[in-house]
Amino acid sequence: MVSLMRGVNYAAMATSSFCPSLPQHFKPTPIINFHQSSFSFKVFSSQSSADEVPTRVGFLGLGIMGSPMAQNLIKAGCDVTVWNRTKSKCDPLIDLGAKYKPSPAEVAASCDVTFAMLADPESAMVVACGEDGAANGMSPGKGYVDVSTVDGPTSKLINGQIKETGALFLEAPVSGSKKPAEDGQLIFLTAGDKALYERVATYLDIMGKSRFYLGDVGNGAAMKLVVNMIMGSMMTSFAEGLLLSEKVGLDPSVVVEVISQGAISAPMFSLKGPAMVQSKYPTAFPLKHQQKDMRLALGLAESVSQSTPIAAAANELYKVAKSHGLSDSDFSAVIEALKVKLKD
Ligand code: NAP
Repeated sequence: MVSLMRGVNYAAMATSSFCPSLPQHFKPTPIINFHQSSFSFKVFSSQSSADEVPTRVGFLGLGIMGSPMAQNLIKAGCDVTVWNRTKSKCDPLIDLGAKYKPSPAEVAASCDVTFAMLADPESAMVVACGEDGAANGMSPGKGYVDVSTVDGPTSKLINGQIKETGALFLEAPVSGSKKPAEDGQLIFLTAGDKALYERVATYLDIMGKSRFYLGDVGNGAAMKLVVNMIMGSMMTSFAEGLLLSEKVGLDPSVVVEVISQGAISAPMFSLKGPAMVQSKYPTAFPLKHQQKDMRLALGLAESVSQSTPIAAAANELYKVAKSHGLSDSDFSAVIEALKVKLKD
């Protein structure tokens, strides 16, 4: 368990703790900082200093997203220490120059800032707060940045545990999938300690193309869930349209092309449509995670008594797809759930 620290001087920490320097290969990009209270936008420009030694960065969770994100940090010249439940996923990163520690606590203890990219609320909790969890390696001056997609209540629990150690916490779920993660083009939806947000900006800019600061912990999670709720519903509607087009004798490939040229065009449709027409679902965003996000978004809506009938219907389709063994396929495989229904 994490020991309770009282009387922590956060003001002193804000000035005396780690200060990330810009790695050698980093190219600064324009950053949007959304400030919730004033609705103002600021553009940050990063200062470059090729000779400074990068701060020690931990990375926990090396799945589809975590691996390329950590890889980009390493390639940018950061001093990265990794951990993953399945150790073999650390090996390619170790080959690239990463250090390895056998537990989240040891990673956190040996690093100034630790990022976590875990599957869901349960794994995010256990890695942050469980036995050998990161919180056990945290102390004043350190920071924990959870980039997993979880619900606000989970994020607040993790925030509480991390803060008890005197460390700072930032939730920073990402918009963008496997390819944007590989290309360093993610969008970070951050909330929590502003001082930590500012200190890790360099790393966010290596892994992403933009970052939003949204205020209190929970706002980043809520933003991510709203976005993914919309995305999940869009995908089911797209799938329904493709199947209808086929049933009435149209070529669904042409439907994909027509959509791509009109007002409802979306990169997601153009990217996934051609494969869906061939019943292929190479995994970029696992269907089980999309269903988790629908479930969490419905919980968010329920918490404010908002009716979300479209998302609820879409969620049922993701559940059907999961029950047909498609959890680890791409979420576009939800079209298979509709095919099952057509046969009923
Ligand atoms: P993933 O490939 O399934 O990776 C999940 C990671 O969580 C793996 O490192 C896995 O470790 C770890 N994990 C799962 N259960 C665990 C447990 N009980 N204890 C410790 N570690 C555990 O998922 P992903 O696609 O990278 O997504 C990660 C997060 O980002 C999710 O919250 C997802 O919703 C979100 N996200 C994904 C995408 C996307 O397009 N893929 C985009 C934006 C956001 P093992 O390797 O040992 O299984």
